[in-house]
Amino acid sequence: MPNYIPTIGLEIHVELKTKTKMFCDSLNNPEENHPNTNVCPVCLGHSGTLPTINKEAVKSVIRVGMALGGEINPQTKFDRKNYFYPDLPKGYQISQYDQPLVLGGSLNGITLTRIHLEEDTGRLLHDPKTNMTLVDFNRASVPLMELVTEPDIKSAEEAVNFAKELQLILRYLDVSSADMEKGQMRVEVNISLGKWVKGVWKQGTKVEIKNLNSFGAVAGCIAYEIKRQAEVMKKGKVHQETRGWDDGKYETVSQRSKEEAHDYRYFPEPDLPPFETASLGLEELKDSLPELPAAKRDRFKKEYDLEGAKAESLIIDQRLAEFFENAVSELKTFKEGLNPQILLNYLSSDLVGLMKENEVSFNDLKIKPESLAHLVFLIDQGKVLSRGAKDILKKMFETGEDPEDILNNEGLHAMSDSSELKKVVKDIIAENPSAVADYKKGKTASVQFMIGKAMSKLKGRGNPEVLKDIFIKNL
Ligand code: MN
Repeated sequence: MPNYIPTIGLEIHVELKTKTKMFCDSLNNPEENHPNTNVCPVCLGHSGTLPTINKEAVKSVIRVGMALGGEINPQTKFDRKNYFYPDLPKGYQISQYDQPLVLGGSLNGITLTRIHLEEDTGRLLHDPKTNMTLVDFNRASVPLMELVTEPDIKSAEEAVNFAKELQLILRYLDVSSADMEKGQMRVEVNISLGKWVKGVWKQGTKVEIKNLNSFGAVAGCIAYEIKRQAEVMKKGKVHQETRGWDDGKYETVSQRSKEEAHDYRYFPEPDLPPFETASLGLEELKDSLPELPAAKRDRFKKEYDLEGAKAESLIIDQRLAEFFENAVSELKTFKEGLNPQILLNYLSSDLVGLMKENEVSFNDLKIKPESLAHLVFLIDQGKVLSRGAKDILKKMFETGEDPEDILNNEGLHAMSDSSELKKVVKDIIAENPSAVADYKKGKTASVQFMIGKAMSKLKGRGNPEVLKDIFIKNL
């Protein structure tokens, strides 16, 4: 078995979050719960109606193509892909055949074949009470981007990393929420195995696994197919077919034999004229691209010495990264050369924790980057210790107050006066004779117990290192 090498390609469909649908002005909201609300004669395929092209959707696909280094096709057109299915009201899908919007490009070292634009289908809903299947056309004709890769992928891990990075880029470009669980990004895996036999490469039959709606399903189906196809190939030939993924059984299941491309009888859409992409203002679209995740990773490494999981927590969340960068630049106005690491800790664990707990978004956040920087500066100056800093942060979160004001009003200053600390230490020693006796018997851990007691008496304002010294001197 180990001599089989997998060849994997991906086809990824993405719902674009335009205001209206692809060829009419019905609202684009596939999440609408009431069936058949966002529909009109055009997206229901009534005869005599004519489609018009949603330029925002075209621009979105062009921006994705630019972000992935593809060539924007100067001349493009739409085609009809004919097939019959109850969720397809016109009896054909308007798609793109031989002149897709984007040619080539690459991501994570994997070459892209093409990216084109088409429309989504409706949804079939089975009603178990009446045993009838009903059709909801809210999703019919929602703009759908299709990205196809070359079969460059060799493992489940590579496939998942590709899909994750694409999802992140789509979010950076703000063209789709790309939530797999909601069906906004749907992955299809093409996989075959091959091996060298006496110096000749033998390629096995390709199997397609459709409608994968989680990264786990993508990884699971590839692992499963590698094993299954290898088993089949020991005895014979893999059957060319489309399979689905059973999340419960964690295996792929046969669905149908695969149609050939000519079964779709593609022909140019007669109701939509071919057009030149230059008419959409390509320069302007190029200028609209944000800094992309890969560039941000490089810059965060260089500027803040951040990489790995710490950096990634910022890379995956543009708003958090923006807040972090603003706070770091404010921090420089307080003091040059401070390590942004401590700021990141207060931001990504404490502040983000408070935001999640209270369901507060960056839009409603009362703490400004400047005040977080100010708090970190106070910590650096030794004016407040970590326990006090957390209390201040909580108060800042609730009221938006200035950290120095909170520090003064609440008396959370770190205690530097050792005579005050000595008094507390003496009290604790007097109140805990058995802990003192333990210490004298050699149980050094009992110092920690007494430091804890002192800390709670001091409401976290005493420096534990200083306290330890005083305890040891006094015991
Ligand atoms: Mn498609």
